[in-house]
Amino acid sequence: MLKLERFDEYLDQLSDVIKEYQRDISVGRVVPKASRNDMEELLFETLPMEGCDAMNIIDEFKEKVVPNSTKVGSSKFLSWIITSPSQAGILGEIANVGISQAPFNFKAGPAATIIEEMIIGWMGQLFGYKKESGGILVSGGSVSTLTALGAAREAFLPGSTENGIQNISNPLTIYTSKKAHSSIDKAVGVLGFGKNMLKKVKVDEFFKIDIDNLEKEIENDIKQGLKPFCIIAQAGTSLSGAIDDIDALSDVAKKYGMWLHVDGAYGGGAILSKRGGEILKGIEKADSISVDPHKWFFVPTEAGCVLVKDKRHLYNAYRTGVTEFDENAPINYLDYGIQSTRTSRAIKTWFAMKTYGIKKLSQVVDSNMDMATYFAEEIEKIDGVRLLHKPQTSAVCFLFDEGATMNESFLIEIEEEFFLSSANLMGEHCIRACFSNYRTSIEEVDLLLYKIKSFASME
Ligand SMILES: *Cc1c(COP(=O)(O)O)cnc(C)c1O
Repeated sequence: MLKLERFDEYLDQLSDVIKEYQRDISVGRVVPKASRNDMEELLFETLPMEGCDAMNIIDEFKEKVVPNSTKVGSSKFLSWIITSPSQAGILGEIANVGISQAPFNFKAGPAATIIEEMIIGWMGQLFGYKKESGGILVSGGSVSTLTALGAAREAFLPGSTENGIQNISNPLTIYTSKKAHSSIDKAVGVLGFGKNMLKKVKVDEFFKIDIDNLEKEIENDIKQGLKPFCIIAQAGTSLSGAIDDIDALSDVAKKYGMWLHVDGAYGGGAILSKRGGEILKGIEKADSISVDPHKWFFVPTEAGCVLVKDKRHLYNAYRTGVTEFDENAPINYLDYGIQSTRTSRAIKTWFAMKTYGIKKLSQVVDSNMDMATYFAEEIEKIDGVRLLHKPQTSAVCFLFDEGATMNESFLIEIEEEFFLSSANLMGEHCIRACFSNYRTSIEEVDLLLYKIKSFASME
């Protein structure tokens, strides 16, 4: 083990490395130029039999790892939906690792357990949930949706967690839009519903689920002897940021006695803003919600959150003992989710939410949405470039008239400065810019627009 008296020194050294990285985060390339081969050559070693001084590893970390890491927090990172981790969130994560709690039960992290209950309460409050609601912090949206669907299955078919769903006479069907995230397919597969039972419903011109089509499919499936079980609303599709009409979906779910889950891994963060709250109208009627603190709440990875309108459903699906649900019994997170030993994702979320307050977070989310709107308006004015949709949240897809090859060469051309991703929206190859970074300035957006314009006029 490390000699304790030098631990301070290591910690100081490491904190210098982090400070320097954070200070220069927006300077230079976002994605390092390293190839896979380069990285293997630089990093692969044989299994170490003898140990060495930790300072050597810190040096190696500084020399080899840091320069070959993607600067997710850079102001010019406009790709995917990995938001820039906030500095308060980073402090919170460092603090969390420093005391390394495992709050699967109270004694494994008394303070961490209570902070998690508080964060779940705060999140529930933001979404309009009442006191019977509950939830748990998980690794991200994928596990959040998996956890929610496990709870939904037990609520819909009591005893199915015990007996499985091998022998049911009417197979259960699940509905979501064609634009749903791949994590939903995974969850449906893992839980034994079968991906074939996940019905991907047509979307309208705004990439929202087409409600008439949904109802037609449900009616048709009932006629075929299937049992419609759950609707998964999209609250911020990962490609275009489209938010389904949650209010209308909740009516459909009610009419057919189905569970409504909202995948708000990304767009759930829009609840922070007044405008966002309006497009998420009805979300408080959902039976469960996925929302990622590590997306639009600017908490460093990993931090996902699953909320359920009635926490008994989580308990019934994940309890480890035989005790029946008791709303007054203290919460042990072992009985509310999939993991046993688990890190506290609450401590860093608490750091971030308390440091900025909802007012500040909502300003950032609003300014991200404004930026996306501005960017889209300017894109529409450029000859040779086509906007694919009006932004609903903070993602904007567009393409060069010449198509895929030109899109790709533009992405390569700008990679020295900006990092955007390519995407495929309804069969069209396009470029996707996602403004979910608190460091991005309007001058940088103008610079990007200028580059798009120059590139379009070159050909
Ligand atoms: C990111 C995302 C997910 C998956 O969440 P992870 O945190 O990456 O596991 C699911 N759905 C949507 C809409 C997302 O944007």
